[in-house]
Amino acid sequence: MRGLMQSKQLLISSIIEHAAKFHGNTEIVSRTVEGPIHRYGYRELCARSKKLANALERLGCELGDVVGTLAWNGYRHMEIYYGVSGTGTVCHTVNPRLFPEQIVYIINHAEDKYIFLDLTFVALIEGIADQLPRVAGFIIMTDEADMPETTLPNAVCYETLISAESDDYKWPQFDENTASSLCYTSGTTGNPKGVLYSHRSTVLHCYTGGLVDTLGFGARDTVLPVVPMFHANSWGIAYLAPMVGAKLVMPGKDLDGASVYELLHSEGVTFTAGVPTVWLMLLQYMEETGQRLDTLKASVIGGSAAPRSMIETFQNKYGVQVLHAWGMTEMSPLGTIGTLTARQEGWSVEEKIELQSKQGRGIFGVELKIVDDDGADLPWDGKTFGRLLVRGAFVAEGYFKGEGADAFDEDGWFDTGDVSTFDEYGFMQITDRSKDVIKSGGEWISSIDIENVAVGHPGVAEAAVIGIEHPKWDERPLLIIVRAQDTEVSREDLLQFFNGKIAKWCVPDDVVFVEAIPHTATGKIQKVELREQFKGYVLPTVSAAE
Ligand code: ADP
Repeated sequence: MRGLMQSKQLLISSIIEHAAKFHGNTEIVSRTVEGPIHRYGYRELCARSKKLANALERLGCELGDVVGTLAWNGYRHMEIYYGVSGTGTVCHTVNPRLFPEQIVYIINHAEDKYIFLDLTFVALIEGIADQLPRVAGFIIMTDEADMPETTLPNAVCYETLISAESDDYKWPQFDENTASSLCYTSGTTGNPKGVLYSHRSTVLHCYTGGLVDTLGFGARDTVLPVVPMFHANSWGIAYLAPMVGAKLVMPGKDLDGASVYELLHSEGVTFTAGVPTVWLMLLQYMEETGQRLDTLKASVIGGSAAPRSMIETFQNKYGVQVLHAWGMTEMSPLGTIGTLTARQEGWSVEEKIELQSKQGRGIFGVELKIVDDDGADLPWDGKTFGRLLVRGAFVAEGYFKGEGADAFDEDGWFDTGDVSTFDEYGFMQITDRSKDVIKSGGEWISSIDIENVAVGHPGVAEAAVIGIEHPKWDERPLLIIVRAQDTEVSREDLLQFFNGKIAKWCVPDDVVFVEAIPHTATGKIQKVELREQFKGYVLPTVSAAE
């Protein structure tokens, strides 16, 4: 028997309509690329999205067409999110930190019809425009006064484009499974692969993201997503903030410690989210200047493992609750988050930090399991680790244009490429990416565990661990260190530092000091490049083994 409830389609346009009606004056504050701070409310965001929707129709964009963005977090990017997806066109957020050849690849692969770009990226796109034959025009996200001289063919000023339009627009109603947006994974190996979200998956992810034990911010909060809108939809915040009516603070292009701090402070931000690299810069700035965070209640850390020392500093020194989260572009992206239960809140500070160093509990809507190499389920005992598989209504069922099909099995499970454990509380801990785990004498060593201990040393700015070939053990860990400014920490100091913190056999065989560690376009350590750089490196333990 069918239920007798309306089957209203879950569409992204409903989010901005809701925000305009019920939170019309709630502000979106943006630090613009041009410099000044810009403010307006959700009502105006909705009205301008509708002007853009009318403009897109005039430009001939139809249901299923794709348009690209190269843009920072800001109000115009929000208008594009809603104006584009709302009409049934697909909003393809291009990560501008990718190499130019990767940008060419994904714009062509996605078949972007138009490209919206911030002033910052005009030169970048001018350099590759002749390799983008399908792009019919470039819309520069600025006003007439700031419009640059450009060699881009068919360049249009964003404000000019929408000023000619009416804000009278009726969002079309269509199947909720229609594609809404497209985001490519950074692809540390091979070409980036496209994840094509639907209206339904986006709205469902938003509902789950809004639960109090997921991101859980609301109409009393001021939210600053440091995580970019081109990195898995700013982890859903670009949709969730309007849905719940939170004030939104958009940081634009400056993500250094001083700039982020200034906005957190001046706008009274209560909730923020970003990758560990960004928080390292912020904490360093606060350490140097003695600043405090008076309004900030919670900070989500994800994208890479949150080091224990970072969780301690946020919570114990600044009174900011850390929410350690794990997810993937393929998952919209939230998968697990480390909110504590009532019982866990009663644990000692030490025990809580230990638990929060794990990546958290699964959220509603995502099934998770760990399996061995034959696909058999593994126990959740906090020790046994295996390949992490996921499935759910906001998990990809395949990549755009059928690529990478081997990551998806016939029962709908997606192989995350991560290796993890689950404990008795359902808290997951990422051991490593499966290709980064170090295989030593039949045992697996987690590079993440070693890195997390190393960054707790005051003389360390950044640490990376890779496996180096070893005749006796197969592989042994090499620790690569960027020293903190004005410090002279030695190899011996560091090796000593591991005593009692990790198992003896996991302590690296050697330490090398470098000026900088390479990063991917989403701020992760570029291990492929490090392995290339240290190919043939001979560990001091090798001669002893021979
Ligand atoms: P990209 O692959 O484009 O850099 P993703 O954000 O989709 O972007 O990367 C997802 C991967 O990032 C995960 O599979 C996992 O390896 C890693 N990751 C994300 N969050 C965490 C975390 N909290 N701890 C450890 N690794 C994480």
